[in-house]
Amino acid sequence: MKQFNVIIIGGGAAGFFAGINIAEQNPNLKVAILERGKEGLQKVKISGGGRCNVTHAEFIPNELVHYYPRGEKELLGPFHKFMTGDTMAWFEKRGVNLKIEEDGRIFPVTDSSQTIIDCFLNEAKKNKVEVLYNHSVKSIKKTENDWQLDTNQGSFFTEKLLIATGSNPKIWKLLEGLNHTISKPVPSLFTFNIKDSRIKDIPGVVAQKVAIKVLASRLESEGPLLITHVGMSAPAILKLSAYGALELAKCDYKFSIEVNFIKRSFENCLVNLKALKQTLNKKTVFKFSQFDLPKRLWKQLVLAADISETTTWADLNKNQLEALALQLTKAIFKVDGKSTFKEEFVTAGGVNLKEINFKTFESKLHKNLYFAGEVLNIDAVTGGFNFQNAWTGAFIAAKSISK
Ligand SMILES: Cc1cc2nc3c(=O)[nH]c(=O)nc-3n(C[C@H](O)[C@H](O)[C@H](O)COP(=O)(O)OP(=O)(O)OC[C@H]3O[C@@H](n4cnc5c(N)ncnc54)[C@H](O)[C@@H]3O)c2cc1C
Repeated sequence: MKQFNVIIIGGGAAGFFAGINIAEQNPNLKVAILERGKEGLQKVKISGGGRCNVTHAEFIPNELVHYYPRGEKELLGPFHKFMTGDTMAWFEKRGVNLKIEEDGRIFPVTDSSQTIIDCFLNEAKKNKVEVLYNHSVKSIKKTENDWQLDTNQGSFFTEKLLIATGSNPKIWKLLEGLNHTISKPVPSLFTFNIKDSRIKDIPGVVAQKVAIKVLASRLESEGPLLITHVGMSAPAILKLSAYGALELAKCDYKFSIEVNFIKRSFENCLVNLKALKQTLNKKTVFKFSQFDLPKRLWKQLVLAADISETTTWADLNKNQLEALALQLTKAIFKVDGKSTFKEEFVTAGGVNLKEINFKTFESKLHKNLYFAGEVLNIDAVTGGFNFQNAWTGAFIAAKSISK
């Protein structure tokens, strides 16, 4: 029988961050992490394309919460206690230098997730956190004074239990057995599959300022758009996938979107095109891109508006001008399925947030049972916010547990 003061199930981002902080804040506690894999921190390893986007340069709690489609309301209080600036200070205090990129994402200066992993492994060792690999938790029971965990390597007992198992269906099932409710898990942060002649031959093209609406819904977003080999990606799409995670799952990822490639109204665009007709007169429409659109995309939209490669601006009739304005501001694309965004993906769903005390991240149903990270029904758009949720929850739970 193995007895601990604190056991953390899951040696991922939240589990390690919590374990280190608990042991550091109260060195008298015997702390263990039970990790089912032969190594931990596997998602940290592959995160941010192998660079680990640890957090995001948004330092105002009221602004930061807006990046969380699920958890926005609940994270406000926790962010006042531990957020992005604290994360940066935490890592830098432990020798990990960070850098802020132009789009706000924060990475280790080494551009390697191994730096974060090495930091966690060193800190866990230094603070005597026992990390037990190849330990898969099979059941969780409440005894009179303790929690009993049965694993593939025997039973463990602990006074306080922190669950940091990420999006793991088996653990969610066990938690249902403890009367917690689980919001149905569905993928978030995915790209859209689109087969359409307008984008078929132009993978790699980026339109910088795009607005997109999902038709027959209230979902809309803005930002850069990337044409890929199978459809569309980049922030404008990823935001829709996060905010629409539940809605888009319901329609089995078959829906239509309206893309405004230039973020102007149809009417404004038409006025501009009419002016161009006057000024560009004998120039061919096809050859010279307008509205700062990438040339290859412009050409595709011109052809889609039934304007030939040799037509001049002076030749354009009313219908062609309108058709081009439509392609530029209200282009409809049919989405049929989704693909994985390789840099980052998460699961929407998890432990119902009403059952958590967000002052401590303790269960409202069971004393001495805590949660942190993706096991909760919290997830964010891409950019370092998902890890920030893990660090914040783990830090606040650690503070309460170590008391
Ligand atoms: C490819 C990819 C890239 C990403 N990049 C980024 C990024 O750059 N920035 C960002 O903010 N977010 C990123 N994310 C999201 C981020 O990785 C997660 O939100 C974060 O890892 C969640 O941390 P966690 O500790 O809750 O769960 P996890 O990191 O998933 O850890 C859970 C751990 O629990 C263990 N476990 C599960 N069940 C059991 C069990 N029964 N017994 C024992 N152990 C168990 C698992 O093996 C795992 O090690 C990325 C995700 C992916 C998939």
